[in-house]
Amino acid sequence: MTETKAGFCMELADKLERDGNLTDEELASVLLCDDPRFGGYLAEKARDVRERVYGKDVYLRGLIEFTNYCKNNCYYCGIRSGNKNAERYRLSEEEILSCSDLGYALGFRTFVLQGGEDPYDTDERIVSIVRGIKERHPDTAVTLSVGERERESYQKFYDAGADRYLLRHETADKDHYGMLHPENMSYERRMNCLRDLKEIGFQVGRGMMVGSPGQTTEHLIKDLRFLKAFASEMVGIGPFIPHHDTQYANAPPGTAEMTLRLLSVIRLLLPEVLLPATTALGTVDALGREKGFAAGANVAMPNLSPVGVRGKYLLYDNKICTGDEAAECIRCMSMRVAGAGYAVVQSRGDHIRYRKGEAGAGTVLPAASPEA
Ligand code: SAM
Repeated sequence: MTETKAGFCMELADKLERDGNLTDEELASVLLCDDPRFGGYLAEKARDVRERVYGKDVYLRGLIEFTNYCKNNCYYCGIRSGNKNAERYRLSEEEILSCSDLGYALGFRTFVLQGGEDPYDTDERIVSIVRGIKERHPDTAVTLSVGERERESYQKFYDAGADRYLLRHETADKDHYGMLHPENMSYERRMNCLRDLKEIGFQVGRGMMVGSPGQTTEHLIKDLRFLKAFASEMVGIGPFIPHHDTQYANAPPGTAEMTLRLLSVIRLLLPEVLLPATTALGTVDALGREKGFAAGANVAMPNLSPVGVRGKYLLYDNKICTGDEAAECIRCMSMRVAGAGYAVVQSRGDHIRYRKGEAGAGTVLPAASPEA
């Protein structure tokens, strides 16, 4: 790459920071620029923006993967219904509440309840779990990630006290959506769900896998425009990683480099976004999460699920953090965050425009010692 081309991309990054208003061609240049200096330049801009909005804080979410039963058969996913080799489990309500007690004692002030679309999870069950957590720990936020539901169900969850909802859109291109999902799943339904969640008042998380089978640069540009258009409060992205029991077992994984590039672009497009450095990023690159924080991410999601079931929530192969106790996970994550120059804070960590419900300012947790 010549000086002129590198300089051109850097000017585009400046423009992105100024007004977020790049043409498709310009966005493609930013995504594809292969000058080694450019990634660092873009990440620095993204860091500046995140620090202007959220300072050096990193928010923790205690992830409780409470069921791996799923009625859907997403072609890329290790817990899809068609995978007869997946060892299924679901946590009881008591087990989930115990996870929240443990997490609270460890300093978590947000719990993310994630699972497959398990028919066992009636609205009443989810409502009861949300209420249970809120009664025990009123100063926490509850994020649900339990897939597509009727609007009435989402409303019940919201009324029970759920604050946020994660539902990745997976791809903003209808044909591409059809390539990743069976015919009984529909792009329109996914979009309707996302609209319902927003209208009800949740802080909503969208997102996509990076490098999913068939994904093109044009798809990614559509994704970016979609995320921007809906002013997403949270965006979850991570590399696609093949699972051996899926039809995409031999598809190439998404790269850490493209994931980091996108994290920075998303931070510049949506300066206030809550942006996690995901486990999948840490799976494709041992230092992926540190690099994610250095590229604009400000959220980490250590695992709070009981160790006995961790190894069963396998969306993809070689998933990290399946063996450590929750306390170890939080220690490890605090170290990684500190290593990237940031600090884990004990706070609900709401989107900046949803701070009203927050009980007290975030207090800084002590940095973990390296030998811990
Ligand atoms: N059922 C809920 C839903 O549909 O939103 C939440 C669980 S779902 C397994 C969570 C996310 O895992 C999906 O949105 C998808 O992006 C991600 N995922 C699934 N398979 C993956 C894979 N092979 N590589 C990386 N991420 C994957």
